[in-house]
Amino acid sequence: MSGNEAVARGAWEAGASVGVGYPGTPSTEVLENLVKYEGVHCEWAPNEKVAAEVAGGASLGGVRALVTMKHVGLNVAADVLYTQSYTGVTGGLVYLVADDPGMHSSQNEQDTRNHGVGARVPVLEPSDSQEALEYTRAAFEISERFDVPVIVRLTTRISHGKGLVTAGSRTEVATRPYERDARKYVMMPGNARVRLRDVAARDEALAAYGSTAEVNRAEERSQSLGVITSGIAYQYVREALPEASVLKLGLTVPLPAQLILDFASRVERVAVVEELDRHLTMRVRALGIDVEEVDLPRRGELSPRIVAEAFGAPPLSRRELVDGLPPRPPLLCPGCPHRGLFYALGKVRAVVTGDIGCYTLGTLPPLNGMDSCVCMGASIGMAHGMDLAGSVERPVVAVIGDSTFAHSGLTGLLHMAYARSEGTVIVLDNRTTAMTGHQGNPVNGVFIDGSDAPAIDLDAVCLALGAGSVRTVDPHDLDATLNVLREETAADHLSVIVSKAPCALLIKDHHDPYAVDEELCTKCGSCVRLGCPAISRDENGRAVIDTATCVGCGQCVQVCRYDAIVGVGPSCDLGGGR
Ligand code: SF4
Ligand code: SF4
Repeated sequence: MSGNEAVARGAWEAGASVGVGYPGTPSTEVLENLVKYEGVHCEWAPNEKVAAEVAGGASLGGVRALVTMKHVGLNVAADVLYTQSYTGVTGGLVYLVADDPGMHSSQNEQDTRNHGVGARVPVLEPSDSQEALEYTRAAFEISERFDVPVIVRLTTRISHGKGLVTAGSRTEVATRPYERDARKYVMMPGNARVRLRDVAARDEALAAYGSTAEVNRAEERSQSLGVITSGIAYQYVREALPEASVLKLGLTVPLPAQLILDFASRVERVAVVEELDRHLTMRVRALGIDVEEVDLPRRGELSPRIVAEAFGAPPLSRRELVDGLPPRPPLLCPGCPHRGLFYALGKVRAVVTGDIGCYTLGTLPPLNGMDSCVCMGASIGMAHGMDLAGSVERPVVAVIGDSTFAHSGLTGLLHMAYARSEGTVIVLDNRTTAMTGHQGNPVNGVFIDGSDAPAIDLDAVCLALGAGSVRTVDPHDLDATLNVLREETAADHLSVIVSKAPCALLIKDHHDPYAVDEELCTKCGSCVRLGCPAISRDENGRAVIDTATCVGCGQCVQVCRYDAIVGVGPSCDLGGGR
């Protein structure tokens, strides 16, 4: 199983009744697998905050609940978590949070252990798939035993790496009876101050538990070097430094102080190996332990080789990179509807505040279609702020995906209306949450199990939020899209344009491909500047379409002023890439 599959299995075995989350790589597959088990109701929520609230409500109702997200999603849910830490739980409440060292698919690096410290909730860090399953089970037990939400923190290597797993069976957990307890669950200041005393007592109890808990273990080997580590870094230490004694921490928040002090007293030198922040290093030093300074990178992922080099250990063999492979930069897919929209935005020379989704790839040449991308929902507020600056002569346009609009764009639009904005917001409605693998969302009306769900009426919602107009365009129709864009960016009201066409990967029955008539091609390059991966130039500079890749969206046909792009038919005998 992958780590994500194992977490799903662990939650099911632990008797969880509810799973809820927002898709975000590398966490997405947890809920996609949990939904396959009987006895667990799963949902995608519009954002992580809502997911955390739903899971918290399920816990309050007495059942075990898992809430899933990636690291940046925890920022959205943090408002909930920090107070859930005060209320505690009724049924076990577990947050699965997947960090992404190296930013394989994220806009920042972030160490979720910091949120564990800030919210004063325990953090468990599995080192492989087996532990992902076992720690998830343990997390529910800890949650109920100590009356606290628990974070299970994975990183990309654990989430997506696969390992053999010994699975168990499901423990059916009785629903805990709901009893009204306003002093515990209504966090007005008077109650919160009382609960804070309980939190402090819990901190001490958890730290003592950590020093004896099975998830923390000392592996005694050579006494000359002792390494304190956790998560995937444990695997790297074992490979790079097989002789070293290791204190493997599965529960890193709170710190098991006594266990660490005992371990440090038994070895001559103490070092810490961890990815991302110096979370363990600083806290172990705060215990008065002389932690050796090791030259490990403070960003990105570690590897066995990096760890070996940092300790001057014998070098590990490495596979050499193959020379001469063609570069494969990330690109919008052939037939992607966003390409047509970015083409039109380029024609009006728009400054585009962008958002999180596959359309962020429109930033890259040749489209150069986005000017900013910060976090989910930021595009709308950013566009309004740029208008307030008053320094940009060109139209400022916010673009945001359908799922992202539901996630955190609605309030931005509401604010623009309230602030009397005359700006333009474009919702890129490709009928799915494409970036993370085509999950359902409130706009496309697909539930997590594939069944139909009520789809929100985007037009009605945007008008209700205060948009002066809502117009829908087909982004494959370049002229029509451009005309609407020109009209709405010039309008003296807040405009929403819904750019609506399905993700190219959703379409099973594509149109016939196109090809370039090399006699007619003038080498002007207009079609190449669309950035479709199916179009390239031959050695003479003429455009070439790879008909095996082209899905026949027709966008390039519209930009060729020389009618050189034509349908491929049986009587067609053209040059190019057929
Ligand atoms: S737009 Fe037409 S003429 Fe220009 S390079 Fe492409 S196929 Fe050739
Ligand atoms: S029709 Fe043109 S733009 Fe569309 S997929 Fe084919 S080559 Fe790409």
